Amino acid sequence: AAVKKGPGAWVAFETPLDTISTDQKFIQRELPRAVSAHELELHYQPIIAAHGGRIIGVEALLRWTHPQRGPIGPAVFIPIAEQMGLMDVIGAFVLRRALQEAKRWPDLYVAVNLSPLQVRDGSIVDTVRAALAESGVPPSRLMLEITEGVLIDNPEEMVRRIEDLHALGVRVALDDFGSGYSNLSYLQRFPLDKLKIDRSFVTALGTSANGGVIIQAIVALGRALGLSILVEGVETEQQRVLLRLAGCDEMQGFLFARPAPAATIDRLLAQQKQNGGKALPASGGNE
Ligand code: C2E
Ligand code: MG
Ligand code: MG
Ligand code: MG
Repeated sequence: AAVKKGPGAWVAFETPLDTISTDQKFIQRELPRAVSAHELELHYQPIIAAHGGRIIGVEALLRWTHPQRGPIGPAVFIPIAEQMGLMDVIGAFVLRRALQEAKRWPDLYVAVNLSPLQVRDGSIVDTVRAALAESGVPPSRLMLEITEGVLIDNPEEMVRRIEDLHALGVRVALDDFGSGYSNLSYLQRFPLDKLKIDRSFVTALGTSANGGVIIQAIVALGRALGLSILVEGVETEQQRVLLRLAGCDEMQGFLFARPAPAATIDRLLAQQKQNGGKALPASGGNE
């Protein structure tokens, strides 16, 4: 159930524990079964406009609840799914399900994460095209999230891949920016639409005197390159205020909402509508 948590948090769910200790062998044994038994499902985390605080999108996040062990986090099982060659099947499921569920939120965009192997495999373009056709959701409402690591190995091919995805009408975001190689030249080299700034930068905001300087510089650079800027992992009101001042366009984080089942998104949107389309309480947006 939703609980009121901390000043301004308008909804909060307990996230599944990242069961890092869950052993690899157990997951290898159980994952194929889980896929066929439909134990994998999607939760959605709202994405908020920095100005006005409205929900403008959702990010689909995979959830696996094992009948005996309980929740196993995607950061734990996705790398294993990749090793086992299961990511094609799982990735196609995620795209289809996210687009099916997105039909009920015609005003929102839906962001779907692609694993490195999915992006490297050229057949992703057909998988995305098929999922869009099946759902009837306009391609402009789909945002695909890729990570920096996948871009390095074969930059020319990755530029073409992004162009092929653009040709379908979808947009592409660079996820977790700043968490890995942080190669600023990528921003110019790859035809990206959105930059998702990693939450490590947000954490730095409160802990060092000049923590805000770096994030301001990244936001300015991204904007100069014509990218829309989303900051992930916003947990406090102070961070929200600083990030808005820094000029970021969108925010996502526990301050606003935790990932939750589709029905919770329905409820939040109904609540937002009831408020006359005004910002939800915690997003602090009567501006
Ligand atoms: P991500 O794409 O960067 O997703 C954001 C992660 O940060 C999610 O963790 C989310 O629950 C968490 N998060 C959101 N707001 C906050 C906050 O304010 N504070 C903190 N501490 N965390 C926050 P989650 O769901 O455990 O997912 C972890 C990663 O697993 C994702 O990182 C993504 O890389 C991967 N993943 C999740 N679902 C999928 C999927 O369907 N396909 C693929 N390929 N990867 C996925
Ligand atoms: Mg993501
Ligand atoms: Mg991210
Ligand atoms: Mg992340």
